[in-house]
Amino acid sequence: MSPSSSTEAPLLLVGAGHANLHLIDQRHRLPMPRVVLLDPGGFWYSGMAGGVLGGQYAPAADRLDPMALAHRRGVEALRGRLTGLDLERHEAQLDDGRRLAVSAVSLNLGSTVIPPPAHPEGPSVWAVKPIPRLVALRRRLERDFAAGKRPRLLVAGGGASGVEVACQLRALADRHGLDPTIRLLTRAPELLPGAPRGAVRWLHRRLVRRRIEVATGLALVGHLPGGVMATPPGQPPGEDNARFFAADHVIHAVGLTPPPVIERLGLPTIAGRGLTVTDCLQSPAASWVFAAGDCAALLEHELPRLGVYGVRQAPVLRNNLAAWWQGEALRPYRPQRRALSILDLGHGQALAIRGGAWWGGRLAWHWKRHLDTRFLAGYRG
Ligand SMILES: Cc1cc2nc3c(=O)[nH]c(=O)nc-3n(C[C@H](O)[C@H](O)[C@H](O)COP(=O)(O)OP(=O)(O)OC[C@H]3O[C@@H](n4cnc5c(N)ncnc54)[C@H](O)[C@@H]3O)c2cc1C
Repeated sequence: MSPSSSTEAPLLLVGAGHANLHLIDQRHRLPMPRVVLLDPGGFWYSGMAGGVLGGQYAPAADRLDPMALAHRRGVEALRGRLTGLDLERHEAQLDDGRRLAVSAVSLNLGSTVIPPPAHPEGPSVWAVKPIPRLVALRRRLERDFAAGKRPRLLVAGGGASGVEVACQLRALADRHGLDPTIRLLTRAPELLPGAPRGAVRWLHRRLVRRRIEVATGLALVGHLPGGVMATPPGQPPGEDNARFFAADHVIHAVGLTPPPVIERLGLPTIAGRGLTVTDCLQSPAASWVFAAGDCAALLEHELPRLGVYGVRQAPVLRNNLAAWWQGEALRPYRPQRRALSILDLGHGQALAIRGGAWWGGRLAWHWKRHLDTRFLAGYRG
């Protein structure tokens, strides 16, 4: 189907992620007569999610209403989820059974964590995504802390989100004057793989001061009554190598994967990474399907799962959707070589890393707060 033969069928923005938010905001620069957003609820900004968990921000401060933004910008909004695409008929299938004829689709569905199954007598199992799960965890812990309980907390994953979550759990406990055990478990030989060594040493000193125990070179292999079992990566559990860690709550901050619907679209995917897209952010098998952010897997580059890449892809995506509609040449997206990542460690401290450069402390925290509030303010009414 050529774009011109489907002028009544809208451009469908699926998921109000960072890139599609930009498309909504820039609706006036899209030539399609109709643009429709399909999203199940609010946009939760992960940059402030750690601060929400630690009690620094109210959950409402971290949430945008994409439907309200859509309304203001002349984008139609549908509440719901995509469950499939009919590639022959150019239709989107929704979770309530509806089918919607579309001219083009922009997928920006983010990523999710699917933790290993919980044990019926085991610890409560949580995941860092979607973000509302961290809000639920905060509420649960606040109830426990208010009752004077000190649940044992274990975070699995020594990347940026695992480190943030462990530090923010300490910040939340400190607000209640309690001192629960907090452990951070990582399969890698060191925290924050790829980060400058000085930054990792600085971080370790902070973790020691905050009484956060770190166990490296151990992968969580399952939940057991009262805790978890971990072994060195790739080794099946045996008498010599398996370790048990007691825990009441286990928070999984590893294994971000694209939402399962991506595998059900009938389009090429890269296992564990997402919908295959060319450097023009277009499916190589269906020129009317575009994708950006965590759910898109570029053929030429493997990008870390960071919201900032969706933000940088957004103008290219907007340009390419318009060019595709008008039958003009698309332009490639060139990922930046180094992305700035700032970890909010709670207690007014942050660690900023960009390539080999890093900065830790209060100034980095103010910097992050400035960038985060500016991002959200740009989309608020
Ligand atoms: C604790 C934590 C802290 C983080 N901090 C940072 C940070 O400081 N900086 C940074 O750059 N990255 C950070 N990240 C990474 C960041 O969360 C992701 O990279 C980012 O959210 C991906 O953005 P996105 O635009 O791809 O999608 P998202 O922003 O996740 O949005 C996806 C949208 O799609 C919707 N959706 C999902 N499935 C469907 C469906 N079937 N149909 C319709 N809609 C659907 C969702 O409801 C959601 O609105 C952090 C992650 C975690 C877990």
